[in-house]
Amino acid sequence: MESYDNWINGGWAQPARRMETTTPFTGEAWAEVADDAAAVDAAVAAARAAFEGEWGAMPAAERGRLMRKLGELLTRDAEMLGQVESRDNGKIIRETGAQAKSLQSYYDFFAGQADKIGGEKLPDPGANFLVYTEKVPVGVVGAIIPWNSPLALLTWKLAPLLAAGCTAVVKPSDITPVTALLLAERATEAGFPPGVINIVTGGPEVGAAISSHPGIDKITFTGGGATARHVARAAAENLTPLVLELGGKSPQIVFDDADPDAAVNGILAGIFAASGQTCVAGSRAYVQEGIAQEIIDRVVERAGTIQLGDPADVATEMGPAASDAQRDRIIAMIDQARAEGATIAAGGVVDPDLGGRFVRPTVITDVTNETTIVREEVFGPVLTIQTFADEAEAVALANDSDYGLAAGVWSVDIRRCHRMARKLDVGMVWLNTYRNVSPLAPFGGTKQSGYGRDNGLEAIDEFLETKTVWVELEGATRDPFVIG
Ligand code: NAD
Repeated sequence: MESYDNWINGGWAQPARRMETTTPFTGEAWAEVADDAAAVDAAVAAARAAFEGEWGAMPAAERGRLMRKLGELLTRDAEMLGQVESRDNGKIIRETGAQAKSLQSYYDFFAGQADKIGGEKLPDPGANFLVYTEKVPVGVVGAIIPWNSPLALLTWKLAPLLAAGCTAVVKPSDITPVTALLLAERATEAGFPPGVINIVTGGPEVGAAISSHPGIDKITFTGGGATARHVARAAAENLTPLVLELGGKSPQIVFDDADPDAAVNGILAGIFAASGQTCVAGSRAYVQEGIAQEIIDRVVERAGTIQLGDPADVATEMGPAASDAQRDRIIAMIDQARAEGATIAAGGVVDPDLGGRFVRPTVITDVTNETTIVREEVFGPVLTIQTFADEAEAVALANDSDYGLAAGVWSVDIRRCHRMARKLDVGMVWLNTYRNVSPLAPFGGTKQSGYGRDNGLEAIDEFLETKTVWVELEGATRDPFVIG
C-alpha cells in the first residue's frame, strides 16, 4: 500500500494520525494518507510566512511564470495524474485523463492575469485630493475540495488565488486525497517558494479546523449544501468570508423544434458522464409534448447500452459510484421515487455483475416537480423526464427548484434560446450544448447552489481586497478646532 504525508512548507510533513483511501472499482484500500486536524496550524503558519515573505514580495510577472511552469509539469505528468484520479474516485480514465490535460490552460490563463491586476484613479472628489484604489491579495486562503473532479476543482481555486498573490491551505476530499499532494509536489519542482501551496488531507475534522481557523482570511469551498452550512457556521465565528460552490438540480429543456440527435446526446452527456457525479448534472429533463415520446424512447434505449466497467479501460463509458455510501444513497432515492409512484423506465438497480458498486444508468418518468427525486440532488446516474406544453410552463418548471446552478436549452429558434437564457434563474445556461467549461467562463450558481464564482476574471476578484487611498495635495490640512 502506498503512503503519503501532508505537504506543508514545500515538503512532506509527517502526521500524527492516518486514514486509508480506497479504489471504488474494487473496494480495496490502495493508499494511506494523513488525517490529522492538528496539522492545519502548521499549514496556516507556513502559508502566512510565505504570504508575508518571499511570495508576497515576488513581482507578479514572476508569479505568473511559476504558474505557467506548474501547468507544464502537470501536462508532462497528465497521464499518471489521470490514472491516480481514476483509481481514487472511479471516474473513467477518458474523463480524468482529459481533465488532467486541461489543467495547464487554467494556469496559463490566470498566469496571464497576474501582472494585470491594478486599481484605478478615481475622479477628483475635490481639488486638493488624489484618490485611488489598489487591489491587494486577501492573504491566506483555505480551499476545501470535493471528490468528483479533485484536480480540476482544486485548479479552479488555486490558479486565480495564486494570480491574486494569495497563499493556500488546501484540504482535498477524504475520498480523493492523493492528487492534490502530487500537484503540490510539482509546484515545488516548478520553483514555488515553500508555504505557498500546503495540502492537509483528512476528513471532516480537518475541514472544520480550516473553517474555524482565525489565521485564514478567506475560505473557498466546493461541496454539498449540508457541509457548506457547517463551514459557514464555523467561518462566522471569525467573520471569514466565503465562496461556496454547491450542488445543483439542473434542468435540460427540449423544445419540439430541437435537433433530436443533439438533444439526446446532450441529455445523455449531461447526466451519465462522470456517472452523474457532477454538480452540473442535467438531472431534470423537461421535454415539449410533441417530441417527448421520441426523446424518452431514445434516451431509455441508449441508457440501456452504456458500457459499464473498469474505469481504467478506455472502452468503458461509465464508472462506479465513488463510495458504498454514495451507491446506497442513490439506490435509496430511486426506491423512494418508486414508492412515490414514479416509473423506472431504465436502470434503477445496482448492476448484478460488477461487484456491487455500479448503479445502472437510470431514467425515471411519471414524476412531478413535487416528487422528492425531482427536488433533491442525487449525485448519481439518475435522470427524471417530464413533459411541458409551452415556453411559459417550461420556465416555471425549471425555475421551481431550490437550486440554480445550470440549465440546458435545446431549440433551433435563436430568439427563444436567448429568451430562455434571460428567464432561467441559474448561474450558467448552455444553449444547444451542455457542460462546457473554460478558464475564461465564470462558473457558479444562484440560490442553494452557492455564491461567488470559480473561473473567469471574477474568480480573481474573490481573492482580492480593494484598498482606497486618499492623498492630500496642497498641505491644506488645518487644526480642526480653530474656527475660521
Ligand atoms: P461534501 O460536502 O461531502 O465534501 C466536500 C468537502 O468538505 C470534502 O473535502 C469533505 O471532506 C469536507 N468536509 C466534510 N465535512 C466537513 C466539515 N464539517 N467542515 C469542513 N469540511 C468538511 O461534498 P462531496 O460529497 O465531496 O461532493 C459532492 C457535492 O459537491 C455535491 O453536492 C456536488 O454538487 C458538489 N459540487 C459542486 C460543484 C460546484 O462547482 N458547484 C462542483 C463539484 C461538486
